[in-house]
Amino acid sequence: TDAFLARAEQHAGLNSLITLDAERARAAACVADQRRAAGTAARLTGVPFVHKDIFCTKGLRTTCGSKVLANFVPPYDAHVAEQLDQAGAVTLGKANCDEFAMGSSNENSAYGAVRNPWDRDRVPGGSSGGSAAAVAAGIVPFATGTDTGGSIRQPAAFCGITGLKPTYGRVSRYGMVAYASSLDCGGVLARSAADCAEVFRVIAGPDVRDATCANRPVDDVMATLDQPLRGLRIGVATPYFGSGVDEGVGATAQQALKHLEELGATLVDIPLPNAHHAIAAYYVIAPAEASSNLARYDGVRYGHRSADPRSLDDLYSRSRAESFGAEVQRRILVGTYVLSAGYYDAYYLRAQKVRRLIAADFAAAFAGVDLIAGPTTPTVAFKIGEKSDDALAMYAADVNTVAVNLAGLPAISLPAGFSQGLPVGLQLIAPAFAEGRLLNVGHQYQ
Ligand code: GLN
Repeated sequence: TDAFLARAEQHAGLNSLITLDAERARAAACVADQRRAAGTAARLTGVPFVHKDIFCTKGLRTTCGSKVLANFVPPYDAHVAEQLDQAGAVTLGKANCDEFAMGSSNENSAYGAVRNPWDRDRVPGGSSGGSAAAVAAGIVPFATGTDTGGSIRQPAAFCGITGLKPTYGRVSRYGMVAYASSLDCGGVLARSAADCAEVFRVIAGPDVRDATCANRPVDDVMATLDQPLRGLRIGVATPYFGSGVDEGVGATAQQALKHLEELGATLVDIPLPNAHHAIAAYYVIAPAEASSNLARYDGVRYGHRSADPRSLDDLYSRSRAESFGAEVQRRILVGTYVLSAGYYDAYYLRAQKVRRLIAADFAAAFAGVDLIAGPTTPTVAFKIGEKSDDALAMYAADVNTVAVNLAGLPAISLPAGFSQGLPVGLQLIAPAFAEGRLLNVGHQYQ
C-alpha cells in the first residue's frame, strides 16, 4: 500500500485521482495483514485499488466529478464497494471522471482534465479516465469504472489496458450514482484479462437492492481462462471498421484478429445493419434518462445549495445553474426536450424502436458466431482541447461502443497494439452473461 501511495504521489501530475485517503488505506492494509496472518485472506486481500468517484463509499467523499457533490460524504457503501471491502481489497481513494460520467475524454470533470500517461498532452478517454490513467501509470493494479456508452472500454483502449463491461444487470447498481439507469453498468479496468476476472467475480452477482440486478449465479470465470480457442467463431463487425475509423487503428485491430486466428479462431464478416443508428439512438435515450435522474439535485436534500434564494424555484434553478457543468446542462436540456409532450413520439419513442433493432442485429449475429470483434474506438487518444468545443465530434468517439449498452451485452477492450505510437484497443462483444468467454479469449490473447 505504501509503495502504491508513493506512486500516486509521483504521478500526481496526471490528475487521475480526486481524493486520496492514505490514512484510511493504511488502516485497511493493516486489517488485510491480520487476515493474512489468520489464514482468512481472499485473493484480493491487501490489493490496492481506486473507485471511480461515482461509487458511493461510506465516510469517503464521493463527488461524481461534479461541483454539486463537492462536499458529499455518503452514509453507505455501493454494492461494488461493499464486495471489494469484504474481499479485503484496499481503497486508496477515488478516481477522477467526467461529471456524472458524461463524456469521452475526462475533460468534463469539475476537478480538472486527466492526462494520458502515454502522452500527457492527450486525453485518457472517458468517462472513467482517472481509473484508466491510474492503472496505466501503475498507481493501482486495478480500478472500478462504469460504462453507460463506452466509459470503461474507451479509456481502457486509449490507455493501453484491459477494461471489462459486464452484462447489464450482472453487477448491482446499488450505490452507483445514476446517469442513464437502463444503460449504466459497473465494471473493472486492469492490466490484464486475468486481473479483470479476479475483480469481476468479486463484484458480480445478485443483489436485492437493485431490482434490475440478475438473480442468477456467476459463472466460474477463473476456471475457463485457460481454455484453448480452437473452434471459436469470431464475427468481424464490418461497420466498426467503417468511415471515420483511422486507417492505422483499423489495421492494428485487423492484426490482433489475425493473432486470434493463429490461436485457433475462425473469422467471418458480419453486417450489423443498424450499427450506424446507434449514436443517434444513444444520444436521445441517455440524456432522457439523465434529465430524469439528475432532477434529484435540487439544492434541498443534498449537494450544492445556492445562497440567499429569492423563492423555492429560484433555489432550484440557481443551485443547479451554479453547480452543473456545461455538458451536464446540455444533456439535461436535450433529455427534457426529447421527453416533452410534443416530441416524445418523434425522438424518445423512435430511439427506443431503434434500440430494439440494434439488439436484434446482435441476436441475429450471435446465431452464427461466439463473439463479435472490431476496434474499440475510431481513433487513438486525441489531444486535450481538440474536441471539447464540438459536442458532436466528441459523441462520435463512441461510435463503436454505445450499441453494446443499448443491447445490454458484455464486452471487453484488450490492448491490441499501437498506431502513431499510441495504444489501440480491440473490442470483443459476447452474448449476455458470457463474460467468461470474453475473459478466456482476452487471457489467451495476452
Ligand atoms: N461518452 C458517453 C457519454 O458521454 C459514454 C459515457 C459513459 O459510458 N459513462 O454518454
